[in-house]
Amino acid sequence: MLMEPETALAARIKAIGFQCQRCGDCCRRVARESNLVMVGPPEIRRICTATGRAWREIAEPYPEFIEDGQGTRYTFGWCLKRTEDRCMFLEHDHCAVYDHRPWICRTYPFMLGEEGLMVFECPGLGRDIADKDAVAIARNLLARTRAEDEEYAAVKMHFMNMKPSGGRTLVIDSEGEKPIHG
Ligand code: SF4
Repeated sequence: MLMEPETALAARIKAIGFQCQRCGDCCRRVARESNLVMVGPPEIRRICTATGRAWREIAEPYPEFIEDGQGTRYTFGWCLKRTEDRCMFLEHDHCAVYDHRPWICRTYPFMLGEEGLMVFECPGLGRDIADKDAVAIARNLLARTRAEDEEYAAVKMHFMNMKPSGGRTLVIDSEGEKPIHG
């Protein structure tokens, strides 16, 4: 993956411009799966600690499963639970876990992909951004990418070492295999 230095990334974000309008559109379902927030175990545990809620109260398996042909179904991650039309933590247009929100929420509408900086649709784009805020987004983007790379490597390692045993439904994350019961 192309990883720009923090200052270069911040300069690009500054040139694009961004200021959150607090519309909450990134937390609502405005299109199919538009508010799917993928989270890794460290992010889930951080929110559990902050809210006193259990893992399964706030996170659900990523909704795409594959089958191994021997009766085992698995998916490779978690996402925050949602209600009919929004993230479970969007309360009166405010994030109830703002200080503990996942990387995706901290860095939206930006992401670092294989080709470098990606920008998603957002009404906050094109607006003046302070230097320090551009640097903060750049720093979070780089930290998010490192966290996602670590998660991916650990998931791959657990997947490669899985022992075949049929008839299970599993989430494979960076901590290992987690069976889904019902
Ligand atoms: S965790 Fe907070 S910022 Fe992230 S989608 Fe939910 S309400 Fe929005």
